[in-house]
Amino acid sequence: MNDPMKQYSAGAPLRTHRCGEVSASLVGREIMVAGWAGRIRDLGGVVFVDLRDRYGELQIVCQDGTPLAVAKDFKLESVLGVTGTVRRRPEGMVNPDKVTGEVELVAKEVTILNTCAPLPFQLDQAENASEELRLKYRYIHLRRPEMIRNFRIRHQTAMAARRYLSGRDFLEVETPLLIRTTPEGARDYVVPSRIHHGEFYALPQSPQLYKQILMAGGVDRYFQLARCLRDEDLRKDRQPEHTQIDLEMSFVTENDIYQVVEEMVSTIFAETLGIDLSSPFPRISYDEAMDLYGSDKPDLRFGCPIHTVDDLVPGCGFGVFEKALQEGGTVRCLNAVGLGEWSRKQVDELEELVKRKGAFGLARAKVAAAGLDTGIAKFLGADFQSALLERTAGKEGDLLLFVAGPRAMVREALGALRLELAARAGWIPEGAWALAWVRNFPLFEKDEQTGGWTACHHMFTQPRPEDLDGLEADPGAARAQLYDLVCNGVELGSGSIRIHQRDLQERVFRIVGMQEEEYLAKFGFFLEALGYGAPPHGGIALGLDRLVMLLTGSPSLREVIAFPKTTLAASPLDGSPGPISEAQLAELNLAIVPRPDQKGNQT
Ligand code: ASP
Repeated sequence: MNDPMKQYSAGAPLRTHRCGEVSASLVGREIMVAGWAGRIRDLGGVVFVDLRDRYGELQIVCQDGTPLAVAKDFKLESVLGVTGTVRRRPEGMVNPDKVTGEVELVAKEVTILNTCAPLPFQLDQAENASEELRLKYRYIHLRRPEMIRNFRIRHQTAMAARRYLSGRDFLEVETPLLIRTTPEGARDYVVPSRIHHGEFYALPQSPQLYKQILMAGGVDRYFQLARCLRDEDLRKDRQPEHTQIDLEMSFVTENDIYQVVEEMVSTIFAETLGIDLSSPFPRISYDEAMDLYGSDKPDLRFGCPIHTVDDLVPGCGFGVFEKALQEGGTVRCLNAVGLGEWSRKQVDELEELVKRKGAFGLARAKVAAAGLDTGIAKFLGADFQSALLERTAGKEGDLLLFVAGPRAMVREALGALRLELAARAGWIPEGAWALAWVRNFPLFEKDEQTGGWTACHHMFTQPRPEDLDGLEADPGAARAQLYDLVCNGVELGSGSIRIHQRDLQERVFRIVGMQEEEYLAKFGFFLEALGYGAPPHGGIALGLDRLVMLLTGSPSLREVIAFPKTTLAASPLDGSPGPISEAQLAELNLAIVPRPDQKGNQT
């Protein structure tokens, strides 16, 4: 009777209904459900089990005969098949929060379809288990309702993107996984070739070159939910593989890309969360973002912009500010509206934060009825004070916080302070969404290590036409047709109008320090494609994982990737990476060179 194989061989169904969907409309009906045994309450003469499937939980009652006897053997997370009659729960036992909360299933026949070994962690206590353990037994963690919800939203996001883009004539095209190299600024994962001795493929850091070549091939509008692999030094919430909603369009300007992405993202928000985003999204320049918010991915869910007060400082009476200006630096401040009552200790904690960013200190003054009070107020002349209050719209009860010094440091310190204030003061409204474009980035930035130039985004970005002539003379001054989409202070994606002319692409390769020999070897095939009539084109890639993380309100990317890696790029689930056999090594003509340990011994 309890042999599940009997049921399989008889071809009988294992369920007629899903646990989470059994409602009061089925009262009195005999049904079959199957799922995992969650909470088990053995009251002696009756055993209650919360039977769970992807759709929800149903209370099973095993109260007499064989079901009760079998129920005595139930183990948490074992897999059960139950046939029984739906009945209304007794008065007082109704749970109005659940679809199934009004009913229970009185078991007539129970089959243990599979047992479950003692659990490494309880499902409802997964957060207390170590990350390592949770990832090793990922399938157990995946059974949790919020994980199921995350993957449902991920699926809906992907489907909404696909439907929207298909409806706009985009073709989904798969680009190869075994390729030469794509420079997105990380290291390549490489794959040895068995046939070509001593040669390697790279795994794509993105489909960048291929999507551009598709434009040269006349595809006109391409998209792909593309897997991107980057061998980076992993920081806390990075993953070696991620998925992008990658797209590229021919004969477009920045505005065309903005429009498509705004519509696509709005469709995704509407279909997953039922939220109407207002569009067009605001557009701000990189310089504005850095000056006003101290970040190229500003969180615009709240105000509190940074105020530059350099023009007011000469003669202000406070030597520290005047000196910063004389040394070529800047003085900027935030008006922490309504925080004038914060204690000295609270503000000292904020000072620690800006000091970690390189600031000498955090100058402060409260706004009182008669003007500035406490902190540096006593040093500041009356004219400066009133000009300052006008600039910052300071009112009684506010707190002004200043940082002085080199521009880059001041921007960064006040940018971090702005976020910290918002978090501590609760300025971010629950459920708020703020999407915006940040554009007009510099084309190149200085590589601190080599002193040379590197591309701010990647080397395929078109400079603004007005910067073309002076490109070599002053690379640092050139601006790019480059844009980022930011959402609630997170960079959701980057894109650009691309270089489609071979000679300009070669100039950019040279500016980032490549000799002709090197760029021909790496990108000769791509330059050729540009040379054979590539149309003007541009595109963008949005991080699917990040988008889903925001949509689901998840604290980490690992919550929205089915099988993520640890911060050491390992998978506790399957034990990868791992060694390969001698035979495989021999076939590939590879030998492992022992790595000397710290004492110089071979390991
Ligand atoms: N390939 C770029 C990236 O992965 C995105 C783009 O420029 O379309 O960031």
